[in-house]
Amino acid sequence: MRDPFKIDQPTCISFSAGRTSAYMLWRVLQANAGRPIDTVVCFANTGKEVEATLRFVRECSIRWQVPIQWLEYRDALPGFAVVDFASASRQGEPFEALIRKRQYLPNPVARGCTTSLKIRAMHKFVRSLGWTDWDQFIGIRADEQRRVAKIRTRGHSTESSRETMCMPLAEAGVSVREVTAFWQAQPFDLELLTVNGRTLEGNCDLCFLKPQGQRLALIKAKPGSAVWWIRMESLNLASKPSGARFRNDGPTYADLARFAAHQRDMFDSDKESIACFCGD
Ligand code: SF4
Repeated sequence: MRDPFKIDQPTCISFSAGRTSAYMLWRVLQANAGRPIDTVVCFANTGKEVEATLRFVRECSIRWQVPIQWLEYRDALPGFAVVDFASASRQGEPFEALIRKRQYLPNPVARGCTTSLKIRAMHKFVRSLGWTDWDQFIGIRADEQRRVAKIRTRGHSTESSRETMCMPLAEAGVSVREVTAFWQAQPFDLELLTVNGRTLEGNCDLCFLKPQGQRLALIKAKPGSAVWWIRMESLNLASKPSGARFRNDGPTYADLARFAAHQRDMFDSDKESIACFCGD
């Protein structure tokens, strides 16, 4: 049977900086005795990742001796910038640049941020290497059945038909249990709050796709994290005559910050985030 982690054609490994995609990278390195030629590992930074995530990316790269391309969205050609741990944005600059360019706030109906900040930034980088067709490895596990089915049906990302989406973890039947066990045995880890295998602070710190109670709990733990989101909801954008929000079906981030300051415990731990390519 073919090893799903074995690479034999140009491949972009999407490293979302969660435990799952890091485990996928580790399995690739094991299956190929290191990083194969014509393989790039890409991490797309939105500027809203928490510092522990950035440290984790750097640590995986150093400890496993694998170069990881740190990419960020730019609103001018070529549409991306290559950065590193030191120069990576930490104040949401790429995300804010996208919002200002598009003149609207991403939301659950018209998301756009994953595609522009992550998928498209990676594609532009890959195409800048002269690649026209490639395999895109994404860290989706066998237990994420809805996401697996959706991507299998489509075959490529929302952005391009030039890539073939590959989910080696799903193919190999890897579930959150194996990923958790792997990290428990490692000398380093992603130092983010995790409940039932879900990394609550992962991806953009207060991503609007995270359940309301989760965002409240995160704001309560780090009140300063709401400042950027509140500022974005107060921008004067062409698309909003008044009061645009990341979510129209709930309170504003300013309201959430006020609730968080006054409530004791509001954690809806049974609710899951809406799935997106940003992944784990
Ligand atoms: S984590 Fe959320 S806010 Fe950030 S790019 Fe992904 S969908 Fe958008």
